[in-house]
Amino acid sequence: MSRNNQGKPTVIPMRVPNVGQPQQQQINIQDTAEQPCPKCLGQHFDVAVRLRVFSKLNPTNPTGQDALIKMEVYLCRACGHEYGQPAG
Ligand SMILES: [Zn+2]
Repeated sequence: MSRNNQGKPTVIPMRVPNVGQPQQQQINIQDTAEQPCPKCLGQHFDVAVRLRVFSKLNPTNPTGQDALIKMEVYLCRACGHEYGQPAG
């Protein structure tokens, strides 16, 4: 048994791939396109976190403990729509 067994899942930070966001490259802003909210066309987003649990019962979980997975997501400030989700 591990010492870290107090009913709290282990936290594993994980970044979702940033759709459309260039990484560590010199990008001319004129070469880029706005990514507005598909629902309301708002152009400002708040960063939020989605939580998932990687079950200890999953045979591919090497830790043997429930792991809390954090996923960074972007919410439209105007309507709350999560970027990348179906706009329906
Ligand atoms: Zn919106």
